[in-house]
Amino acid sequence: MNGYFDHNATTPLQPAAREAWLRASERHWHNPSSLYRDAGLASQQLEAARERLGTLIGADAERIVFTSGATESNNALFASLPADATVLISAIEHPSVREAARGKNVMELPVNADGVIEPDAVKFAITARRPALVLVMAANNESGALQPWREIAAVCREEGVPFHTDAAQWLGKLDAANLGECDFITGSAHKFGGPKGCGFLVLPGEDSRLGFIRGGPQEHGRRAGTENYPAIEAMVTALEMISPRLGEIETAQSRMRDAFIAGMRSQFASLRVISESSPRLWNTVLMVMPQHDNLKWLTRLSRRGFSISTGSACSSGKEGSSVVVTALGASAEELKRVVRISSGWDSTAADWQALAAAFSEVFHELNSGGKGAV
Ligand code: PMP
Repeated sequence: MNGYFDHNATTPLQPAAREAWLRASERHWHNPSSLYRDAGLASQQLEAARERLGTLIGADAERIVFTSGATESNNALFASLPADATVLISAIEHPSVREAARGKNVMELPVNADGVIEPDAVKFAITARRPALVLVMAANNESGALQPWREIAAVCREEGVPFHTDAAQWLGKLDAANLGECDFITGSAHKFGGPKGCGFLVLPGEDSRLGFIRGGPQEHGRRAGTENYPAIEAMVTALEMISPRLGEIETAQSRMRDAFIAGMRSQFASLRVISESSPRLWNTVLMVMPQHDNLKWLTRLSRRGFSISTGSACSSGKEGSSVVVTALGASAEELKRVVRISSGWDSTAADWQALAAAFSEVFHELNSGGKGAV
């Protein structure tokens, strides 16, 4: 049984990514900027990895800048904007967007009752405020709600406003081939079986500037520091390995997820599932439990071998209150009952069933005031 249901926080390294990392570290550890033959080979491999990533996400390789992950990518983007820039961001962005946006002239786009940003609302806000940039994530990290990023990208294109999507949760879960239609894209390797501390930012064009991390001329002068080629190779390999399987995984996993929700409803009639009527990531269930604080659920499930989360990362780096459930107007008391389940590519029906059974056991323990019940 695999009780790990926190894949939106991070994922285990895929075996193929591990192999790719080891091979790259053993064969091409030279500095890609050096001038001898071995360094040239490392540089060629790095550029080949950039091309391969470009093919997967539908963007020219020249647009891709490798970074240390999604947090750096989001920060780099804001750092490249003028101090007084007006930016339109959704109310459900990750803290690495919300915190990085501080100090700018930020306008928030509200979500509808399904936790989704509507393209018409984006169009209206653009007309009213003429922002320098619009940011709407591709898939939400808490609820899994898919945002209409393709439609919003089209609205922004019509209006002549650059559009950024944080695709950290989309990549490796759904087809990414059209992402290149967005002007800016953020990605993170550890969300899809790649190594931690590696990601990318896609820029509008080959000549777009970025000066967040300054120093040497790496990444065409857009991000200084010796490139982490082994991690980049592992990241691209992870995405290549998973991409052809995504259609089949989505069908199988969303069925298991829906059976889990049905099982939970039969035990907890008043269970609330956030964004239940909107298209969601196949792996994610954000729920407001009918009773008991989320930390009580989390610790007791953890004792039984299940890893879940209470919602999202907050700015302290620990888990905080759900940004999404807050944006939907929940009370402080409801926020304490939010739990998030996020399965993986290979979670089985038995894993999901065991999780539902563990919820039932914990419920009885909490209600009976039994061992450990507080
Ligand atoms: N954006 C989103 C939507 C995320 O889910 C995460 C990870 N929780 C991040 C950004 C930050 O990613 P990283 O860990 O690569 O900095």
